[in-house]
Amino acid sequence: MSLSKAQWEFLKDVAKLITYAQEQELMLTGGELWRSDAQHALNLKEGKSQAKHSDHQDRLAIDFNLFVAGEIQWSKNEHWEKLGSFWKSLHSSNEWGGDYKTLHDPYHFARKYKRGV
Ligand SMILES: [Zn+2]
Repeated sequence: MSLSKAQWEFLKDVAKLITYAQEQELMLTGGELWRSDAQHALNLKEGKSQAKHSDHQDRLAIDFNLFVAGEIQWSKNEHWEKLGSFWKSLHSSNEWGGDYKTLHDPYHFARKYKRGV
């Protein structure tokens, strides 16, 4: 699958995730989708990222801010879990940052992509 096709499939799942959040009366605002190589290098230096190559650099990850009853949700909780479970149910290559063991990143929804496959 080409990268652009993978990006399109990823975005269609993002649309489903946003619709699902709306149905659950969860409010999302958009964070980072695309990240430049320079920004990723800075994030690595500052410990904000641990991945050598970020899915954001391929436009295959998006971060959201989640609000429940007007309150932003910084911690991983049942609301994030609901979104993470739904996200993973959409495609076997979908990955949720809430599952990461060494980085607190429930905001992160990604699609794993193997180049040249
Ligand atoms: Zn992210």
